[in-house]
Amino acid sequence: MFENIKFENPFSTLPSSFYTKQNWSSFDQPFLLHFNHDLAKSLGIKDDPQELMQIFNGSKSFTKASPLAMAYAGHQFGNWVSQLGDGRGILFGQIDSSEGLIDLHIKGAGKTPYSRFGDGRAVIRSSVREHLCGEAMFGLGIPSSRSLMLFGSNEPVMREVTERGAMIVRTAKTHIRFGHFEYFHHNKITNGVKTLLDHVIDCYYPDTKQDSDKYLLFFDATVKKTAHMVSAWQSVGFNHGVMNTDNMSILGETFDYGPYAFMENYDPNYICNHTDSQGRYSFSNQPNIAEWNCYALASALIDIYNETELRDTLNNFNGYFYDSLIEKYRKKLGLKSALDSDYDLLLELFKVMETDNLDYTNTFRDLSKIISLPDNYELSEKLTLWLTSFKDRLIKDENTIEESVLMMDDNNPKYILRNYLAQSAIEDAELGKSKKIDELVKVLRDPYIDQGKSMEHFCKPAPEEQQNQKLSCSS
Ligand code: AMP
Ligand code: MG
Repeated sequence: MFENIKFENPFSTLPSSFYTKQNWSSFDQPFLLHFNHDLAKSLGIKDDPQELMQIFNGSKSFTKASPLAMAYAGHQFGNWVSQLGDGRGILFGQIDSSEGLIDLHIKGAGKTPYSRFGDGRAVIRSSVREHLCGEAMFGLGIPSSRSLMLFGSNEPVMREVTERGAMIVRTAKTHIRFGHFEYFHHNKITNGVKTLLDHVIDCYYPDTKQDSDKYLLFFDATVKKTAHMVSAWQSVGFNHGVMNTDNMSILGETFDYGPYAFMENYDPNYICNHTDSQGRYSFSNQPNIAEWNCYALASALIDIYNETELRDTLNNFNGYFYDSLIEKYRKKLGLKSALDSDYDLLLELFKVMETDNLDYTNTFRDLSKIISLPDNYELSEKLTLWLTSFKDRLIKDENTIEESVLMMDDNNPKYILRNYLAQSAIEDAELGKSKKIDELVKVLRDPYIDQGKSMEHFCKPAPEEQQNQKLSCSS
């Protein structure tokens, strides 16, 4: 199964305060809902979904694994929680693949010592959502965890209503979160932060191992990756929904999908998480929160770093974020050269999109066609006016119009994972059917390429009453 790949779990060699070694609780009769053949191939994992499901369900033993539940903590909605940890997940192991070191983590695997009041399970609904979003992000080129496989069960799981249990096998470069460092620092576990830092550098930044600045390089890299990740979210209209520090990967991969949403009509104040009454994790607040989370991480590193160094590094966040953001938006507008006025041009477009209730994704996607054939589109007065300035700007650019058009199409996705699409795949999956998951995965893997008439329905905005809805946090 994994014979040809190196399989290990270096995390399991760390001191026992870092985790609890344990097995997981299998389902009686799991049924496969989706197997990610592409991902299996890129990881060098044998393409045998049924046998893999038996292994990941725990119904067939696999002696090379050293499964464990990780201990961590975190700030949830700004409040400190000293003990979280994998309450329903098992780190199965780490494979040394052509993609580098990749964690395999089973989510929905039953109770662990960190389950607190939870049942250790995940439901089909949330597992389908996580499985789909990993592929959507992958297609968009945004760093993210992915899911190798998804299987359901008949095990009843109580949420707002009774649902059924499912598991996904999540892959990510790491499952180490900001909250891991916070756990060791705030709980005053001797040598915890330093041991974890050394582990992270060994595994993920081995080239800096001999460097006297290695710790600082790690923190700066984390700040930068986090800023870049969030700039990518903003550029595609993605609202994560639960940016707690325990959901922030130290390697800047989008992680722990809950009530996320890709925005439909442009609304900077959109809050996808139903329980987020204050809008802490609203779309436009994501960059601030990402920075806040970096501060929380810095606070956990204070015993090892010099405070001024930490502050100076934190001050880099804004530069990393805005440089990356404007670069992404220039590409979305088809611009090769950079003018100071580009930022204002963009803000004007956002204003038009907001007042005219325009679909974020489709507005950007259509720009390349609108500039050539405006008569084919029903354009508002405000958008027509904005297009005049946009055309003036395009003329001044180093790109020819043809080059700009290509650049726009390469950087504005035609297909995104709209929640109503995910919902219809969920409803099917709950009946044991997976055709809609297959279709969505296929279309979302290549979101920048027009996939023809038969796929056209995937670009339709949600019906008005389903636009930018709030989603339940329960999963
Ligand atoms: P999340 O909101 O999914 O990021 O989870 C926050 C914390 O609650 C993590 O420590 C999870 O492992 C834990 N948790 C979430 N759902 C459950 C559940 N059903 N059973 C046990 N622990 C859970
Ligand atoms: Mg989480």
